[in-house]
Amino acid sequence: MSGPQCTRLSGALVKQVLDSVDSVLFDCDGVIWRGDQAVPGAPRVVTLLKERGKRVFFVTNNSTKTRKMYVDKMSTLGFDAKEEEVFGTAYCSAMYLKTVCELQGKVYLVGSDAMRQELEAVGIRQTGVGPDHVAGKQNDWANVALDPDVKAVVVGFDEHFSYMKVNRAMQYLTQPECLFVGTNRDSRLPLEGGKAVPGTGCLLQAVETAAQRQAQTVGKPNRFMFDCVASKFSVDPARCLMVGDRLDTDIMLGSNCGLKTLLTLTGVSTVADAEAHQKSGCAERQKMVPDYYVESIADLLPALQG
Ligand code: PLP
Ligand code: CA
Repeated sequence: MSGPQCTRLSGALVKQVLDSVDSVLFDCDGVIWRGDQAVPGAPRVVTLLKERGKRVFFVTNNSTKTRKMYVDKMSTLGFDAKEEEVFGTAYCSAMYLKTVCELQGKVYLVGSDAMRQELEAVGIRQTGVGPDHVAGKQNDWANVALDPDVKAVVVGFDEHFSYMKVNRAMQYLTQPECLFVGTNRDSRLPLEGGKAVPGTGCLLQAVETAAQRQAQTVGKPNRFMFDCVASKFSVDPARCLMVGDRLDTDIMLGSNCGLKTLLTLTGVSTVADAEAHQKSGCAERQKMVPDYYVESIADLLPALQG
């Protein structure tokens, strides 16, 4: 049997595909917005999907916002979204530590204040948020003060990332029983005009290199993001569509969970990238070939309006 075909979704096929699903998972950046601007037509697509009785969820690897912050951003951009529909890695990492790890103890957090808030919302205390500058002499750095209650190191996006944070994380992680969790491995964050900045994957790899350990990551393509949605809402994977702009995170997540997959070309990946995976003959790379693609999510509008 042949794998996913990366078929252009247009004409009568749009309605056929939409009729075959009850829920739609949207990646955020590159799909429904780019930076601080909504993708034209995206708010209307979300509203119409809901009016047609579809459940809509938002699944993002960006760990810099709480669910509440996302809802605020989305309402500014014109989206109809509720907190319980938003699954970001700040929230999902807190859920992972609480429900999967059953963490007893504190987190050493290399991450944002939003992550601190989501951890605290599920009753997990942290230390580490904010700047941590080098102090003292090099000989003392291996003996930095450590909090004996810390039982996990968690790495997300941290604008205050520093040498001392890598060092402190490494000292905690020399204790084999200390858990090691990362929000996601996105290596670059694309900006407008073909520019990019380093993503959380770079920070996580620095800590992994120092600690000589691999973190467990929560974000896409790990199926935990989908499990988080499915644990709160009844979602039949076979009747669920994952829409994303990245083959290695979004489309891979969809394949890992048995969802239908749709690539939109308003973000990172291209049809040529998908075709290269398709032609590779490698089973793992087939998982990065979407079932369908559209130029923009707005391409769904005619079928929804009709
Ligand atoms: N991580 C960070 C820190 C980001 O700023 C972004 C995009 O803005 C992402 C990850 C990727 O987010 P998404 O999964 O919504 O594409
Ligand atoms: Ca994206």
